[in-house]
Amino acid sequence: MTDCLFCRIVEREIAADVVRESDRFLAFRDIDPQAPTHVLVIPRKHVTSLDHADDESMVGGLLHFAREVAAAEGISESGYRVVLNTNADGGQTVFHLHGHVLGGRAMSWPPG
Ligand code: 5GP
Ligand code: ZN
Repeated sequence: MTDCLFCRIVEREIAADVVRESDRFLAFRDIDPQAPTHVLVIPRKHVTSLDHADDESMVGGLLHFAREVAAAEGISESGYRVVLNTNADGGQTVFHLHGHVLGGRAMSWPPG
């Protein structure tokens, strides 16, 4: 059994509100939403962070999957933000590559 939280969600050992899945990726609602829509998109395969992701097709595929999630959530036209917190200064707390798809409200800039 892995001790990676998101691998355990992929394996369905931990419950999550899954909104979309493909052969390579999974999308589920963040447990602590920061916007009306807050969905996490992850590769099924464990990769620690964007900094560790050397598979171009996985990185590109993850963004494409985020775009599909935004469309399914109905936030494509109003707009959304995809965030990849990476390593300590990036604010990453779960070390399995993931993108946050945030929308349903206007985002501010710069981020905190
Ligand atoms: P990070 O801070 O690494 O960019 O994002 C990790 C995200 O995972 C946070 O937004 C946090 O709320 C979310 N999260 C942490 N534990 C769980 C969990 O058990 N289930 C779900 N659905 N989200 C989680
Ligand atoms: Zn993992």
